[in-house]
Amino acid sequence: MQSDDHSSMWIGGHWEQGAEGTRPVINPATGEVFAHAPEASAAQALQAIDAARAAQPAWARLSPLQRGVYMHKIAGLIRDHAEPLARLVVREQGKPITEARGEVGGAAEFFTYFAEFARRIQGEILPSDAPGEQIWIQRVPVGVVVGIIPWNYPAALVSRKVAPALIAGNTIVLKPHEETPLSALYMARLFEQAGLPAGVVNIVTGAGGTVGAALTTHQQVDLVTMTGSVPTGKRIMAAAAPNLVPVSLELGGKAPLIVMEDADLDLAVASAVTSRFMNCGQVCICNERMLVHEKVYDAFVARFVQATKALRLGDPMLETTDLGPKVSRVELEKVEAILAAALNSGTEPLLLGGRPDTPPVAGGYWMTPTVLGGVTADMAIMQDEIFGPVIPVMKVSGFDEAMAVANDSRYGLSAYLFTQDYRRIMQAVADIRFGEIYVNRIGPEALQGYHTGYRNSGPGGDDGIHGLESYLRKKTVYVNWSGSSPVPLMPYI
Ligand code: NAD
Repeated sequence: MQSDDHSSMWIGGHWEQGAEGTRPVINPATGEVFAHAPEASAAQALQAIDAARAAQPAWARLSPLQRGVYMHKIAGLIRDHAEPLARLVVREQGKPITEARGEVGGAAEFFTYFAEFARRIQGEILPSDAPGEQIWIQRVPVGVVVGIIPWNYPAALVSRKVAPALIAGNTIVLKPHEETPLSALYMARLFEQAGLPAGVVNIVTGAGGTVGAALTTHQQVDLVTMTGSVPTGKRIMAAAAPNLVPVSLELGGKAPLIVMEDADLDLAVASAVTSRFMNCGQVCICNERMLVHEKVYDAFVARFVQATKALRLGDPMLETTDLGPKVSRVELEKVEAILAAALNSGTEPLLLGGRPDTPPVAGGYWMTPTVLGGVTADMAIMQDEIFGPVIPVMKVSGFDEAMAVANDSRYGLSAYLFTQDYRRIMQAVADIRFGEIYVNRIGPEALQGYHTGYRNSGPGGDDGIHGLESYLRKKTVYVNWSGSSPVPLMPYI
């Protein structure tokens, strides 16, 4: 299969050109256009919903085990094509190849994991108030799902939305981010090769403002599940509201990473570095602000800065690279503006990064890491998501202050705690107001966990049995098998 054949979208089992032409796709390592992806029109988005609607009843009539067979085939095909897909992820998104291989492994695992639910989607049987009757509560598909994803994991996030939708008996229209459409189009070829019936999965590429808006304002959609930024999440929730379409949102984060005085510092430093700089800091659960006990602050900072300096900025196709480029010029400039504002507000650079004088590859969106001290909890750098290789570190006097600062955030996705004191661990687990807490470790999230955020990190969640629940709804069935007329036992309200 040619990984450079991205000229068309997969709608209703057909490959279609974009009615709005094409959009250039840029390699963030070089700043050069290396492909063109179809640009869908709003009408094509609606056509994809019609295709998904038409395909859904037959897909839902298959047994979950039959649906699971397709999903195991897809997982196998992703594994068979792992290397070209990983290289495509690198070319369109810029993460190091070693990370991209991990992402593609995850993309396959989502299909295997959710296929395993084939025999586990079950209902309940309840006794009725009348003799000769039963009440069943069934779990049934929601119907047609719209999935909208960002650019930071262009392969894994396709699977995170598509796999649970399929096992539940739904069909789906998926829109990747306009800057990273190629991995999704490549995966569409694998879905086709797996023999997925026409219309069960539809991939439309194009602008959020037109294609995304057409999908999320549609009346005949049964669930919108979106991963992305807070402003877009708010827009989507408002767009779906007039139609009362349920919305699940996985939005930004501002994860605190707390290091107490009794922490294993080797573990804490290595974890903090990886969690900040993987994928060039572009992960929703990234370490976004560090809160370090005053007794170990100096030692931690010295070692963190040293380890950060040792990161190898380089061509993301090389196995030796730790840090690739930012995904786009816009994102690079956004993080530069955040850094400039932080420096203006009086923070102290403990390590000052920026655009390198001699970038590893000319023309790319390169940024070396920055570590900022002298911060206070109310500063923008401690409150707003950075999503890049810049990290503030704050000295705290103890556990209580660390918890208070950690919880003082409009985000509530993930939090990290490094300590060996089990009383503090239990206290933090009880008091932390975040959807995920990692104790003496960092991510990634587990497939069987529940990836969910509080506050502006968005209502909703993905993964595991609880993530699967969003793709199912319940149907209550009252069955009278007695052969006589049912007599209401209680007056109805
Ligand atoms: P974004 O909000 O700019 O884009 C996300 C998607 O929404 C894209 O496909 C875009 O085309 C689409 N979109 C834009 N406007 C739309 C509209 N009006 N209607 C419908 N769709 C529209 O986000 P991004 O910059 O791609 O991603 C970065 C953000 O994603 C960060 O904030 C990050 O924290 C977050 N993120 C969250 C998670 C999570 O699981 N919580 C995971 C990854 C990324």
